[in-house]
Formats: sequence, C-alpha cells, structure tokens
Amino acid sequence: MGAGIVYLVGAGPGAADLLTLRAARLLARADVVLHDALIGDDVLALAPRAEKIPVGKRCGAHSTSQRFINKRLVDAARRAKVVVRLKGGDPMLFGRAHEEIDVLAAAGIRCEVVPGVTAALAAAADARLSLTRRGVSRSVVFVTPRVGDGEDPAAWAAAAAAADTAVIYMGAGDAIAVTAALAAAGSSLATPVALVESASRPDCAIHAGVLAGLPGLAAARGNGPALIIVGAVCGELAAACASPLREAATA
Ligand code: SAH
Repeated sequence: MGAGIVYLVGAGPGAADLLTLRAARLLARADVVLHDALIGDDVLALAPRAEKIPVGKRCGAHSTSQRFINKRLVDAARRAKVVVRLKGGDPMLFGRAHEEIDVLAAAGIRCEVVPGVTAALAAAADARLSLTRRGVSRSVVFVTPRVGDGEDPAAWAAAAAAADTAVIYMGAGDAIAVTAALAAAGSSLATPVALVESASRPDCAIHAGVLAGLPGLAAARGNGPALIIVGAVCGELAAACASPLREAATA
C-alpha cells in the first residue's frame, strides 16, 4: 500500500480568493487533484505540479458515478503521496463526502477534511442578506429537494417551512415542484424569496420576489449554479426588486 494521504478540500463557491489558506497550501503540494466540474481554472492553477483529474458532477449534465469517483480516489492514493479531492463549497454539505471517507477508511488510506465557504454563505454575502437577523430570523436550515435512496421526499420541505430562513441547494431546476412542496408544507405563497446565481463569481445574478413567483424567477436565471433563499430576511430585497422606483430611491 502507498503512503498517500487524501485531503477532501472545500474549494469555496467559485472565486479563487475564497479558498482557505490551508486549501491553497495543499493544492500547491498536491501530486494529484480530483475535482468537481464547477471548479474554475483559476482555482486549479493553484496546483501547478498536480495531475488534474476531472470527476465532474453537475446537475443535469453528464456526471461521473460516485462509485467511479471512489475508485479513482483510492487508485490515486495508492500511487501518489498527496491527493487533493477538491469539492465545490464545503465538502461536508451536500458533497457526498461521507461516501468517499468510508471508501478511503475501508482501503486503509488516511484522509483529512478541509472546510470551505459553502454556497449559502457566498450567496448571503452577495445579496447582502443576513441569514439570521435579530428580530426577524433565529433559525436557518440548509436543505435540498434531491433525495438519496430511502429518504422521505417531503421531509426537506417540512424542515424548510419550520425554519425562519431556508437555503435550498440544487432546487432551482425544479422550482415549480419546490414551490408546491413548500406551500404543501405550510409556507405562505407571499413569503419573500431570493434566487442567487453564481455567487462569488463575476456573473453573479440576484433575483427576488415572493414564493408564488419563484418558478418565474428560476425560469429567468442563466446557466450558473443557483441557490434559493426563502424567508422574511429576503423581504427588503424582494420589495426593492418589485419596485424599481424604490430600488432607485434606496440605491
Ligand atoms: N458542497 C457545496 C454544495 C454542492 S451541491 C457547497 O457547500 O456549496 C451544488 C449546489 O450548490 C448547486 O446546485 C447550487 O444550488 C449550489 N451552488 C454551488 N455553487 C454555487 C454558487 N456559486 N452560487 C449559487 N449556488 C451555488
């Protein structure tokens, strides 16, 4: 067995300078980097000496199966010393990290996790939305409508409806179903929402309105990854988007 170590590293939401220093240092030392499709060239450029293996997973697009990724990871660790598995955002949020951790443990390969800035926090920053806000929101949930084997398809909506603020990952492509599920779980169709596309990237776009209009906001988005934020904390943004006059007045 080789002496390789695998670092599961959060690459952050897109902007290369939102990587942690630890992530950048590991990339500089890496022999092999296995990376998601959403990782940009400027981030990969931080690993000049590494062999780079795309194991891209992107909603809707052709994706590499998790089993295949696991195998490539183990193979890489057996032939290289420093392997970086670079994942968008934070590895421990909607990143299937545990599957890779388990497979590495079963193969007797050392593994460490390096956190990253998750998309929700980059979106909140770009939209200038506090996900918790004194007097408005004391709870925030990160949810996805995507289900794994054996999971209750409706549970995410109950969790989202129960929280003051919900951030929905991987939901913009199913905005009609997302809206219906939230309404069925008890959310008012007048709840303010924001849709943030390509957070932290130059092409970042922010749309806001109310839950009833979410399918329209989603239909107007571009090709970038997008998050939906639901809750009263989006109220001012939604009002500004609804009224160009008011937007001009507060600008
Ligand atoms: N582990 C990642 C999430 C992976 S799931 C993290 O912590 O951020 C992929 C989903 O994240 C996308 O479908 C989208 O909903 C969201 N996402 C990723 N990058 C994003 C970005 N720059 N802007 C908005 N949403 C993003």
